[in-house]
Amino acid sequence: MTILRIRTLGDPVLRERARPLERFDASLRRLVDDMMETMYEAPGVGLAAPQVGVSSRFFVYDDGDTGPRFLANPELLPIKKEQVKEEGCLSIPGPFYETPRALKVKIRGQDLGGRWVEMSPEGQLARIFQHEADHLDGMLYIDRLDEVGRRDVMRQLREHELTREMKGSHPSGGRSLT
Ligand SMILES: [Zn+2]
Repeated sequence: MTILRIRTLGDPVLRERARPLERFDASLRRLVDDMMETMYEAPGVGLAAPQVGVSSRFFVYDDGDTGPRFLANPELLPIKKEQVKEEGCLSIPGPFYETPRALKVKIRGQDLGGRWVEMSPEGQLARIFQHEADHLDGMLYIDRLDEVGRRDVMRQLREHELTREMKGSHPSGGRSLT
């Protein structure tokens, strides 16, 4: 398996609307294995295909309870408002910010065999699904923030880049990244 390069803010692939996934074949399974390994190595709790430069509608995730999972072509419906919690993104390395999300969602999508599955998760898993589904539409969590929030994230990002240049470190403080 291979650790893939995670694309970061400024890479145009993160801003594209990804194409529907149509082929559930062996090459997809290999890519998904690599994405799982990349997610665990980061470490993160979710990783969408555009984050590794593949403009296709699928993502992998593991909230710590689910184990490694895959979902393609998700259709997501927010059904309960609202939770505000710190959120971070592997494609915006360093910053975290309190981000509003629906507390509960209904989500329908396809598993690795192409079979349709449906779930209605709450809390952290609902947050991961909303974050990853946004990636497939070319959206990042900073787009869910107000001007003050966006500015704070950009400030944290600059500070993080300076720290990393000096120390070569990548601190996540044990928080969840997606
Ligand atoms: Zn992300």
